[in-house]
Amino acid sequence: MSENSRVSCTIDLDAAGKHAGYLNVPWSRDDSAWGAIRIPIHVVRGGDGPTMLFTAANHGDEYEGPIALLKLARKLDPARLKGRVILLPTMDHPAVQAGTRVSPIDGINMNRCFPGRRDGTPTLMMAHYVYHQLVAPADIVVDLHSGGKTLDFVPSVVMHELDDTALMERTKTAILAMGAPLALVLKELDTAGMLDSAVEELGKLFVTTELGGGGSTTPERIAITERGLHNLLCHLGMLDEAPQAVPSPPRFAYTPEDGFVVSDDAGLFEPLVELGAPVEAGQPLGCVHFFEEIDREPRTYMAPRDGFLYARHFPGLIKRGDCLAVLGADRDQG
Ligand SMILES: [Zn+2]
Repeated sequence: MSENSRVSCTIDLDAAGKHAGYLNVPWSRDDSAWGAIRIPIHVVRGGDGPTMLFTAANHGDEYEGPIALLKLARKLDPARLKGRVILLPTMDHPAVQAGTRVSPIDGINMNRCFPGRRDGTPTLMMAHYVYHQLVAPADIVVDLHSGGKTLDFVPSVVMHELDDTALMERTKTAILAMGAPLALVLKELDTAGMLDSAVEELGKLFVTTELGGGGSTTPERIAITERGLHNLLCHLGMLDEAPQAVPSPPRFAYTPEDGFVVSDDAGLFEPLVELGAPVEAGQPLGCVHFFEEIDREPRTYMAPRDGFLYARHFPGLIKRGDCLAVLGADRDQG
């Protein structure tokens, strides 16, 4: 599946030791005739072992992943590593610079455009490089997400339902070992073009996350992220260190198909349930207030089923079609 790309890398990803450089995405434009986008990349290679690819900022307004990967790149010691770790902390670098979910250059959502296109716009070229040059040699891929500016999640490590039962079991064991408060099997609403499905279809171990959101982060969420990455490397036998202690055993849950609540209204969103709190079917989850219509009653959205509040709409303004809430439900660990 390795294929020639228009993106080049300023460092040798096969070299032993620790190296930092850039991916060079050609982007000739009005203000830079022979210009390029430079995307930071780190590689740490120790003894024999698997290749782990860590990516973050697949969406540019999600912050736990990039911060944790920048810290991990500084911390990793090749002398204590079995295998190779490749880190792309700001995969959609232009979106990170702009603080936006999708690229400001071509308006493309990177996580809906895999496996990309060699001759596409910068986001497509970058996805093509990641898929053909970085995913191809990787044994494990970890893509770190959060809710961004418009969603907020219970910090969680995430996998998907897989047809391959052995891979499903390996993935479940891996996400539980990461020690986040919640390990979750997520039902994606729209999988076309996601890095997730592109990697899973290759039969590789894939882990993703929803570590928080709201367009910022907290000390607790960063700590959960850092511990998860460290413990995953320990779990896979790649790091010659002890895993960090986990305060309490992770909850294992899933997102039932009837657990997604979409707003049919535009207005001001009043959340009525805290993230992570238990909910019962029929319980009010949130209200939309019609601030332009003084005599109109607010509309209350109810929980469609029992469970807990896994995610919610974050900004004060809500529009018709926005995801208002996602419920999770516990799942048997056995
Ligand atoms: Zn994301």
